[in-house]
Amino acid sequence: MQATRIECLEPILWDRWLLLKIHCEDGTVGIGEGGVHGWQRPTKTMLETMASALVGKDPARIEHHYQWLYRSSHFMGSVVQGALSAIDIAHWDIKGKRLDVPIYDLMGGKTRDKVRCYMHVGGDSLDALVADGLAKVQQGFTALRFSPFAPNYYLHKSYAEWADEAVRRVGALREAVGNGIDLCVEIHRQMNPAESIWLGRRLEQFHPYFYEDPMLPDSPAIMGEVQAQCNIPIATGERFSSIFEYQQLLDAKATSYIRPDVCLCSGLTGSKKVAAMAEARHVKVIPHNPLSPVSTAACIQLDACIPNFALQEYTGEAEPPKSELLVEPLKLEEGYLIVPERPGLGIALNEDALRRHPVQDKVLDTPIGYDGSVQDR
Ligand SMILES: [Mg+2]
Repeated sequence: MQATRIECLEPILWDRWLLLKIHCEDGTVGIGEGGVHGWQRPTKTMLETMASALVGKDPARIEHHYQWLYRSSHFMGSVVQGALSAIDIAHWDIKGKRLDVPIYDLMGGKTRDKVRCYMHVGGDSLDALVADGLAKVQQGFTALRFSPFAPNYYLHKSYAEWADEAVRRVGALREAVGNGIDLCVEIHRQMNPAESIWLGRRLEQFHPYFYEDPMLPDSPAIMGEVQAQCNIPIATGERFSSIFEYQQLLDAKATSYIRPDVCLCSGLTGSKKVAAMAEARHVKVIPHNPLSPVSTAACIQLDACIPNFALQEYTGEAEPPKSELLVEPLKLEEGYLIVPERPGLGIALNEDALRRHPVQDKVLDTPIGYDGSVQDR
């Protein structure tokens, strides 16, 4: 096949997300997404800064372009990696489209036909949480993810009160859905190590599928101690952006399920490397996915070609604006996303929808505790 060259990069701020199109001289357009959620504008600036280095280049040299751009400065970080991830995904989409095969075919071939999803569930009151959980089970989902804490639990509540409330919420959902459904408990980094161990032990009786980010994940050795002292599997890693950080997590035995974000940790190339590192330690992969359906489409490509896939985060894409982004929405059947057969990512963007939804910039709303101090998010 004749080579083509990159003509231009087109970053698109759309609703709460940052999408990317890479246009090639032969007319191929690759689609990507950058995942520094909340910091889309700096990531867009990074894409614009990197564009001049890519114009005129062969998009087939995916790893080379990543390495060249990543190593262009000794300063790195999530905004850089978010931009590079969008570029990497778009490059894979171009390669798949030009070769007329799905990306997973280029990354080893299919390891599964469908991808089991966990669905977000919520509710301020215990009754509302249970009702939402049952509704999602009715829709066919077999795994539910939720916070065990009531809103603003950190305000005017003792440790015993909020922890008891968390145990009640997890117990109520388990009782309502039975053992045929997996429960994924998401803590959002809200506790310290001692609290993480104590609550984790109390939740063991409900056998959660995973216990996500009980504490800030930035100290792998301490997270490893928490994991060693709880008999429920910890899931972490959504915030990390390089294979070197994932190696530290794995070396510290800090996680039972690793959570690469395809749009943040060097795209499909980086996520595939993280999955292989995890495979060598018998750790399974649960890709993080709070972004647009472009991110979901990229996740499916990864899930479809790795042996150690466990679950896929899915926030529901039946409501606008997400439901309008793709010309043909990703197929969901009974809680499973069906692996598409079309080339590249297997998606096309709905141009009308891109014009319809203006940018939603992040609102800075860090929680404040009862004493006026800043809380973790
Ligand atoms: Mg999370």
